[in-house]
Amino acid sequence: MSRPGRMSRLSRRPVPSRVPEVPHPREHVEPVVTVRRHARGRGRMGQSGPATTASSSAPGPSRTCVGCRGVGDRAALLRVVAEPDERGSLHVVPDPRRRRAGRGAWLHPDPSCLDLAVRRKAFGRALRAEVTTDVAALRAWVESEHDRS
Ligand SMILES: [Zn+2]
Repeated sequence: MSRPGRMSRLSRRPVPSRVPEVPHPREHVEPVVTVRRHARGRGRMGQSGPATTASSSAPGPSRTCVGCRGVGDRAALLRVVAEPDERGSLHVVPDPRRRRAGRGAWLHPDPSCLDLAVRRKAFGRALRAEVTTDVAALRAWVESEHDRS
């Protein structure tokens, strides 16, 4: 008579103790999700804030290559400028530090892009140089840079 009584007590105990466990994780999950949403939203706002101020100081993050017309990252493209020599003829020269004054054009440091730009007379257009621009200096720079990589 005492055996079924013990058995029923033992079997009943784990049943009610499991029941509150089911809603417990649910209550736990919901606040975590809302907290994550808030944290993500604030995190994006905080990240975009300094990013826009950093990019506003620069004209823009991407540039168009005058050769292949492909858009590339500012860091991936070489800035070139037209520079007159003492005789007044223009030479397209590389400006890897992007510090030279005047109108600049952007080019992938790739000989094929340079060829395309020369064929299209893109330097004259991009640099507003009507004269046939000499790209020998730029070609030497690009080819040496291309060999290195
Ligand atoms: Zn290109």
